[in-house]
Amino acid sequence: MKVTEHIKKANGKTLFSFEIIPPKKGKNIQELYDNIDPLMEFKPPFIDVTTSREEYVYVEKEGLLDRQITRMRPGTVGICAAIKHKYNVDTVPHVLCGGFTREETEYLLVDCHYLGIENVMALRGDAMNHQKYFEPSEGGHNYASDLVKQIKNLNQGKYLHDVIEADHKSDFCIGVAGYPEKHLEAPSLKSDLKRLKEKVDAGADYIVTQMFFDNSKFFKFVEDARKMGINVPIIPGIKPIAVKRHLQILPQVFKIDLPEELILEVEKCKTNAEVRQVGVEWCIAQSKELVDAGVPTVHYYSMGKSSNIQQIAAGVF
Ligand code: FAD
Repeated sequence: MKVTEHIKKANGKTLFSFEIIPPKKGKNIQELYDNIDPLMEFKPPFIDVTTSREEYVYVEKEGLLDRQITRMRPGTVGICAAIKHKYNVDTVPHVLCGGFTREETEYLLVDCHYLGIENVMALRGDAMNHQKYFEPSEGGHNYASDLVKQIKNLNQGKYLHDVIEADHKSDFCIGVAGYPEKHLEAPSLKSDLKRLKEKVDAGADYIVTQMFFDNSKFFKFVEDARKMGINVPIIPGIKPIAVKRHLQILPQVFKIDLPEELILEVEKCKTNAEVRQVGVEWCIAQSKELVDAGVPTVHYYSMGKSSNIQQIAAGVF
């Protein structure tokens, strides 16, 4: 079922959903299942599976270091299929512009269609580790809005090379990313919202936000988006602080602000367990306020660890 259909069916009740990352190449999928198992009691209608950008690794070859490109966490579509069939839950693979040609994207979408995957999250992807700015792959898309257009075309039976007589169309429900505190490259919140509107106009069916720790920023973002004519569901994505280092890492990586009160609470902590508890409590309070405001679903970034998300869900759902 489509994410938008799940939201409709819930009839105003806030749903619980979460996002996982594929295991590192060579790891067993069981670890992933062990993290998903405790979260299934909260009946997520869908689970997102991220896609990682490729990266450079240096391999010794004849005494020299040879630079090679690799993807450390492959398997997004396979994991989506495995989870879908094991738990009978909808899965949402993240599809990136970065690192993929249009043809590769088409094949990936065809795979998803055959596997009965009905939702995809269309994302540009970040710059690769060694790059300052995002660079599209040769033959790949520049922006998520272009990817949305490709998916929308496929939904209409329009493949890249129109030599095909398409008699079976896909019908993907398309999610895109939104940024309550603006995307790090956007010159302003307003121009970022205009870009978001372009993604929706291109065919996006719903939005999932970047993490935030201050709900007032999310509420303002939704208000501004509505004023701009963005009328699709907007799903807040949130994450609990789990270690003290998050105070530096999260602002650095995601260009988000942390509320003063949360920083002070975390700084007071003497152990990791205390930090984790502060993170859980903050996230429960945030979630409860979002549920009271009637958001369609609260989406949790689990980052592969479920015990704190389980504690939060138990306190909210
Ligand atoms: P876009 O919508 O293309 O926007 C990128 C930037 O370009 C923005 O600053 C925007 O304002 C600007 N822009 C857009 N269109 C134009 C235009 N026509 N002209 C000029 N500027 C323009 N990353 C991963 O690698 N894997 C994942 O699985 C993943 N999952 C994510 C899930 C969510 C919910 C979110 C919020 C992010 C996720 N990301 C993921 C991160 C995401 O890939 C990065 O934030 C990336 O830098 C931007 O992606 P986007 O889809 O928002 O890009």
